[in-house]
Amino acid sequence: MKKVSVLIPCFNEAQTLPALYEELKKLADTQTAYDWELMFVDDGSVDATLDVLKQLHIKDERVCVLSLSRNFGKENALLAGIDNVSGDCVVVMDADLQDPPSLVPEMLTYWEDGYQDVYAKRRDRGREPLIRKMFSLLFYRIMAHATRFELLQNVGDFRLLDRQCIDAMRCLRETERYNKGLFCWIGFKKKEVLFDRGNRSEGESRWSFWSLLNLAIDGITSFTTAPLRFATIIGAIIALGAFCFLVFYISKTLIFGDPVQGFTTLVSVVLFLGGVQLLSIGILGEYIGRIYNEAKGRPNYVVKECSSDW
Ligand code: UDP
Ligand code: MG
Repeated sequence: MKKVSVLIPCFNEAQTLPALYEELKKLADTQTAYDWELMFVDDGSVDATLDVLKQLHIKDERVCVLSLSRNFGKENALLAGIDNVSGDCVVVMDADLQDPPSLVPEMLTYWEDGYQDVYAKRRDRGREPLIRKMFSLLFYRIMAHATRFELLQNVGDFRLLDRQCIDAMRCLRETERYNKGLFCWIGFKKKEVLFDRGNRSEGESRWSFWSLLNLAIDGITSFTTAPLRFATIIGAIIALGAFCFLVFYISKTLIFGDPVQGFTTLVSVVLFLGGVQLLSIGILGEYIGRIYNEAKGRPNYVVKECSSDW
């Protein structure tokens, strides 16, 4: 019998877990053609998440738990799960029931048809501030222009991955992970399934605007060096402009003997150039920072305990 793993990263999800488990249990009990493994990764939760998971594991042997030593972030928690699932395919979903388990049977039929990455695409983005929507649009634009693969829009981590995709994901050990991009980067035969993403059932989204902006910068810097080129081109344009400017004013002074005027112009030019330089150094720094993090070669996560030890 084929085995399906469901992988759920959880960070302070004690409130939502019982309802999620009920849904998953319903799913596993109806889809009897498969063996099921429900893999919960506790990403260093500080609430009762781990206790709830322990209870679930005692009640149902299909529940596996992996508890990380602290909060490593969702991207790393996902990798921890991917490293440890044993299924022939894995369904990745969030703990807050925003990713409806009712979609899984449809994903499984596509998987049986030979698709290796069946991803769920949101029909709309749900309740979300306008500025967040605008930034996300901008982000996808940049990614589309700067990379060779297509980064799927309105697609989150909710998807079914075949064993081959799991193995490919296991090979990607970079530290500042951007899984959404990595899932697209690995390729394989993809198929979309449309769904309406609800709002969180309990609690609040852990993603603040800043953490999303950071994720976007991570996304861009892990897949393209286009910003470096951008800095080079801006630098070249400004240098050329400044050179023409210089020639013009020197000739003017030599011919007409004008005294130098325009303190304001001078200050604004200096400030503008300073800004451009800082921006370019910042961009350079982003990449050097990534080299630094990569060079340390630290593991992406540390496991504290695992249900197979209990
Ligand atoms: N999550 C995690 N570690 C974190 C933050 C979030 O494992 O540091 C999990 C969280 O428990 C949930 C999923 O990642 O299952 C998505 O989180 P959330 O609902 O806060 O994000 P959103 O749905 O807004 O993308
Ligand atoms: Mg959520």
